[in-house]
Amino acid sequence: MCDVQVTQAYRFALDPTPAQRRALVSHAGAARFAWNWALAACTTRHQAEGTWWSATDLHRLWNQTKKADPTLGWWAQNSKCVYQEAFRDLDRALRDFVRSRNGQRKGRRLGFPRFKKWGRCRDSFRFSTGVMRCAGRTVTLPRLGTIGTHESTRKLARRLEGGPARVLSATVSRTGHRWHVSFTVRIDREVPERHARPGSAVGVDLGVSTLLTAVDNSGSVIEIAGPKALRAGLRALARLSRAHARTQPGSANRAKAAGRLARHHARITHVRADALHKATTMLAAQYETVVVEDLNVAGMLANRRLARAIADAGFGRARQMLAYKTGWNAGSLVVADRWFPSSKKCSGCGRPKPNLSLSERTYRCGGCGLVTGRDVNAARNLLNLAVSGAESQNACGGDVRPGLAGRPPAKQEPGTAYAGQTGTATAQAAATLMANSHIRSLCR
Ligand SMILES: [Zn+2]
Repeated sequence: MCDVQVTQAYRFALDPTPAQRRALVSHAGAARFAWNWALAACTTRHQAEGTWWSATDLHRLWNQTKKADPTLGWWAQNSKCVYQEAFRDLDRALRDFVRSRNGQRKGRRLGFPRFKKWGRCRDSFRFSTGVMRCAGRTVTLPRLGTIGTHESTRKLARRLEGGPARVLSATVSRTGHRWHVSFTVRIDREVPERHARPGSAVGVDLGVSTLLTAVDNSGSVIEIAGPKALRAGLRALARLSRAHARTQPGSANRAKAAGRLARHHARITHVRADALHKATTMLAAQYETVVVEDLNVAGMLANRRLARAIADAGFGRARQMLAYKTGWNAGSLVVADRWFPSSKKCSGCGRPKPNLSLSERTYRCGGCGLVTGRDVNAARNLLNLAVSGAESQNACGGDVRPGLAGRPPAKQEPGTAYAGQTGTATAQAAATLMANSHIRSLCR
């Protein structure tokens, strides 16, 4: 065992009194105002001088303006931290915009930051200094005081009391009708030097009808259907979406329908996240190597089915969870390349089946006669990827999969301690070894 410093979030649902709820709304409004005020100032300066203000400059400018302008007298009702953090957010957004434009930032091209509008933007604000505590079923935040929570905060409270854990910031946000606080905490986490079950591997296929299907290297199939509430919830969600679409735009009924829909969306997200947390914790604890598919972004944009869209949203989260949880267990996550044909290939003989339709839930191979579940076949292919990577390295160090030559079938998950590793399955196996030695070096 060794301690590794990690940044972790603890999120609690708040149970505010009516007065506290008003204070939360007020703080969210202040954060929105600060963002818009700063964005207007930056835009004006950008048009005139081609540059803008930094977060520190904005804070100084705000301190002058708020005292000079009597119409801004209300600022003192909210914590000063909220304004400051909004300026920091804008500063970051502007810098990301520039970096994205210059090609220094990965991912989707970012536009110039936009104004936030009441009811259309996320209600959220952040504290980074002041009293941020939790005890029992309460949290204490600057200015807002002590607010009740829906669950015990014991897990975090114990960390803060006993160890060198430190709260870096607290972000308060609203989803649907509910307010949450998320503490970002720097803690020492015990990480074992080796995984509890060395050599174990599992291929994981995330699905729509089932939460996930996994096949491990001993051949057993793990199917996690997900809670019943999830499947029933998806049906109700479809119904609420239709109801919302049938209301008049701008009407009171539309607002009510939107509220119901948002509440239900939040509920589905939570039920799914809870199920995914339980499943990924189990997988990371049981298996040293976990193999998943890469996110199919193009496919996600194309699909119009609600259930699929929700599953896709969960997919990214599941991968994130596996990335850090495998790290905590001294294991590793392997992400198969986007073009790796996990479902359109026989896991028995390797024969491809390019015209497999989405509706075919059973995989039938014309080559070896294998008949298996579609998800099981996909999971087994992913598992084979990890196993073949290790084998090819042991045998000759070359690529033993001619069908995949010239295209890297696997990459390490970015965001783990060993990000940036790309290469073939062979290189991937080496990367895993590197990762293990990296964790060991952290342990020293
Ligand atoms: Zn076959």
